[in-house]
Amino acid sequence: MNFNEVQFEFAAGTKEQLPKSDMPEIVFSGHSNVGKSSLINKLVQRKALARVSAQPGKTATINFYKLREFRMVDLPGYGYAKVSKNEKKRWAELVEGYFAQERNIKLIIQILDMRHPPTDDDLEMVDFLYKSNYPFAVVLTKRDKLNKTNQKLQLEYYQDIFSTIEDLPMIEFSAQDGYGKEEIKALIESHILQ
Ligand code: GDP
Repeated sequence: MNFNEVQFEFAAGTKEQLPKSDMPEIVFSGHSNVGKSSLINKLVQRKALARVSAQPGKTATINFYKLREFRMVDLPGYGYAKVSKNEKKRWAELVEGYFAQERNIKLIIQILDMRHPPTDDDLEMVDFLYKSNYPFAVVLTKRDKLNKTNQKLQLEYYQDIFSTIEDLPMIEFSAQDGYGKEEIKALIESHILQ
């Protein structure tokens, strides 16, 4: 499957602006600054398709990137403390509006920082995905920032936390050295072709 023919399609700031769901969608979700843009850029081998944010919490739109066989849907990063109440409300309405639509969602990739425990927002998101019966996977990112011992420990820690979720794919990733990239691409491909 071709991941390199990709173009930025649209940024939706309100649910009314969301484009029609006329292609399979792969959704990327995570706390602001977790490394979501870096993951997307790595998958499509582009430096700045998704903007790697110098200012966390800036991207409050849902961004759509079009590939040949599917779309990547980049949800705005959540949980940035300095965002105003109004902005948080807008975020919630936008994201809830997205999930409330009849969309052709093939897989949601929930990104977590491998170094740290999940935040309450992370757990809420996972709980929502699980209870809504969405096909989802966890990507544990920033792996390169841990030494070998801690890579093992943190993977076990996360496996333990989500042990009640059956068949949950959990992939370690590093945007720095590309670790896990092929596995994530293969997972996406298998869900698109399903
Ligand atoms: P986003 O807000 O979730 O889109 O996060 P970004 O992709 O903008 O990344 C936030 C910061 O973390 C940036 O400084 C990135 O360079 C850094 N970063 C992201 N992924 C990795 C990774 O796998 N390894 C390392 N070492 N740094 C990363």
